[in-house]
Amino acid sequence: MDKTPLFLEPALHDKIWGGTRLRDLFGYNIPSETTGECWGISAHPNGPAVIKNGTLAGKTLADAWAQHRELFDNYAGDDFPLLTKILDARTDLSVQVHPDDAYAQAKEHVPFGKTECWYIIDCDADSEIVYGHTAQTREDFRKAVAEKKWDSLLRRVKVKPGDFFYVPSGTIHAICGGCLILETQQSSDTTYRVYDYDRPGADGKPRELHIQQSIDVANCPHVDPELTYHVRQETEAKFTELLRESLFTVSHWEVRGCTEPIKKNWPFLLMSVLDGEGKLQIDDSGYDLKKGDHLVVPASVETLQIIGHADLIVSNPV
Ligand code: ZN
Repeated sequence: MDKTPLFLEPALHDKIWGGTRLRDLFGYNIPSETTGECWGISAHPNGPAVIKNGTLAGKTLADAWAQHRELFDNYAGDDFPLLTKILDARTDLSVQVHPDDAYAQAKEHVPFGKTECWYIIDCDADSEIVYGHTAQTREDFRKAVAEKKWDSLLRRVKVKPGDFFYVPSGTIHAICGGCLILETQQSSDTTYRVYDYDRPGADGKPRELHIQQSIDVANCPHVDPELTYHVRQETEAKFTELLRESLFTVSHWEVRGCTEPIKKNWPFLLMSVLDGEGKLQIDDSGYDLKKGDHLVVPASVETLQIIGHADLIVSNPV
């Protein structure tokens, strides 16, 4: 079976809060000076990534999923489960929350809710995020929203490069200005905005809020998830498993030379190169890797190695 990795051309999205770092740092062909999101590994209809190489060149990742499920270990489901993005937040994103699968299916008629997680690639010295809230009950939350008590309701957390945040569905959150983030998430575009700083949208009018849905789905009270990182150190590589939850796993790979052979323990693998360059070695074939590359390693690959000097975020559905 074909073991060629699927290298992907990302879909780029203009956002009122975006900037130019997706071009300046990663070389992507951005559509505007306010480009907020690079959907690097995406089969979502709102921004499908296109395969750049091999026999499927020119097809979307969604086409490959529909027509060549063997590449994905015959993974079940109508829809590709994950979505990897890089976000450039020049200014603050809205304060928002996402539904779980059950709510998304019942109310939005889409397959997935949205659990997400963030690896902070870079940020300003004083950058923050909004992560959780202080209300103890749903009624307290509703009341604080109605009374616009944002300063006391929203929990702000300082961030630095290399930090990792798990944002399960129901978590009130906002990525704030200065942050450059790699996000691994369920393949969903369902967002409920609870607060947008009373600022105008692209058309000069405030963007729509979704107050009732936000109150419905917010976790009350917010509880910080406990994260345990599992580190595996080799002579020339370090593997940090950042998250293993019921839907997917996410790891940070730091390669400084040559990894030992890495044996498949995933259905298929999603890789994004955050920095550096190198080679992905699969049997006798070597594939160049460089900063900004996004690719899927198909199910037929039993063993791989990375050679070079590169930092990657690697994920797989469970
Ligand atoms: Zn979000």
